[in-house]
Amino acid sequence: MPASAHSVAPLAASAPAKDRAATDRVGADRRDLLPRLQRLLSRGRVFTSPAQLAGYASDALGYKSYPPDAVVIPADAAELVEFMRGARDLGLPVMLRGAGTSLSGGPVAAQGGVIVHTSSLRHIREINRDGFWCEVESGVALNDLDAALKPLGMFYPPDPSSGPVCTLGGNVASNAGGAHCFRYGVTSHYVLGVEVVLLDGTVHRFGGPAGGRGRWREDWRRFMVGSEGTLGAFTRFWLRLLPLPEKVWTLRATYPDLRSIEAAIHALVAHPSFPAAIEMLDPRGVAMVEGSRMAAGLPRGSFMLLTEIDGPAALVDARVAAVSDILRRAGSDDVAFSDEEETRRRLWKARKAAGGLLGQLSPDFVVQDAVIPKGALAEILQLVYDEADAAGILAVNIFHAGDGNLHPNFVFNSRVPGELEKVERIGERLMRRVIAVGGTLSGEHGIGNDKAAYMPLVYGPDSMRLQWAVPAAFNPRHQLNPLKVFGERRFTG
Ligand SMILES: Cc1cc2nc3c(=O)[nH]c(=O)nc-3n(C[C@H](O)[C@H](O)[C@H](O)COP(=O)(O)OP(=O)(O)OC[C@H]3O[C@@H](n4cnc5c(N)ncnc54)[C@H](O)[C@@H]3O)c2cc1C
Repeated sequence: MPASAHSVAPLAASAPAKDRAATDRVGADRRDLLPRLQRLLSRGRVFTSPAQLAGYASDALGYKSYPPDAVVIPADAAELVEFMRGARDLGLPVMLRGAGTSLSGGPVAAQGGVIVHTSSLRHIREINRDGFWCEVESGVALNDLDAALKPLGMFYPPDPSSGPVCTLGGNVASNAGGAHCFRYGVTSHYVLGVEVVLLDGTVHRFGGPAGGRGRWREDWRRFMVGSEGTLGAFTRFWLRLLPLPEKVWTLRATYPDLRSIEAAIHALVAHPSFPAAIEMLDPRGVAMVEGSRMAAGLPRGSFMLLTEIDGPAALVDARVAAVSDILRRAGSDDVAFSDEEETRRRLWKARKAAGGLLGQLSPDFVVQDAVIPKGALAEILQLVYDEADAAGILAVNIFHAGDGNLHPNFVFNSRVPGELEKVERIGERLMRRVIAVGGTLSGEHGIGNDKAAYMPLVYGPDSMRLQWAVPAAFNPRHQLNPLKVFGERRFTG
């Protein structure tokens, strides 16, 4: 049955995430952990009571819970260095955490251990207007950087929808993307330099505003970006900035079915106006937004495409009619566009809030993050709906369509016996098909522990051996974020 024929499930009250005890925990002597940690950090920066640890047991995926043994919040980078120097001897895994908005089970204590929360590293140290770069600490929230840049006529393009809270540390560690990455590219395109503390307490700077010249010789940024907390603790970044575009038009169009919205996406991708973003919400996603405080007056019952062109005013003003024609010719009889700040803001708020609203439908959800060749879009989306329907699970699709970066959200209740297993079976079948059509496991959320089991579906033993060698070189006992990215990457104490 096509998705457009579905009604959206009624809103249900949220319930606490299900606790799943990690079977792989490293044994910790908790009695002497507190004093040992207190020796490494200043007063009030170590937390071990169950109430204090509860908020750190999962990430935004929620339904898997891995209580840590302790949480530490270093006061500044110097204290983080002290902690890392002592951490090696703790005999426990160490996980870095920004805002915990990961959707892949990234910053969780899958083997137990100590979570290092970077919330005190929040300084924007420099915005260099001549060089178009900034120097920021790793715990700066993405939207705080945007707010500081906007009055200066600059912006930092990667824009994950979690921007109000997610940190630049989490963004760099997971190579975050976002709506505007279709044209502007992802985090790795903007990281000029990284300061990282290794597990022996040594501090290294790779790259930098001068592109790795001078004292900072090793250009190992590429190893660092996307390393998911397995190589070291990031303390600082140097990021490339761009001038704000002079003018922006945001367009939205609705479509009756998957085939016509797919045609619109292909036409937009090929058009010389080169949109900055091409996003899609399915009818359930639209209904969810319209049933919330984020309602933006979107027509219900259709697939919605959101796109944007930006650049010199004369150029984009001349092109907006051609872009709206493309949207109509693909089969939409409802195209609207605006260059008015408030209308545009409401549309983007609706789109970006959609993922966060899923928690209102049911206690749990899983979001896949597969990337597919765009030609397979309608086929794979139909597979998502068919598989979910057959299992009696609700599927909602809200994603970065221009990049072919799918986000099928499976909404379920892990307290209902068998539901989680059904979702996991759908996830595996979906991933196998994604790979068969030439796609891959993650576009922006990372592998974490949620998708680690799928890695051998994409990579053969030789590739896995080489990839594994990278964290092993930096961190031979895999003490940093074990059981992430590679399912067998265990800390053995
Ligand atoms: C509603 C919602 C919408 C989202 N939309 C998007 C989107 O559009 N695009 C996108 O890419 N993602 C999106 N995400 C996923 C998530 O927000 C991103 O992955 C983000 O980059 C995570 O940042 P964080 O600060 O929350 O990191 P965390 O979740 O705390 O950690 C993520 C990973 O980074 C590592 N890490 C964190 N800080 C450091 C550090 N200082 N040093 C070393 N490693 C570190 C952690 O160990 C972990 O592996 C969304 C999530 C939600 C909940």
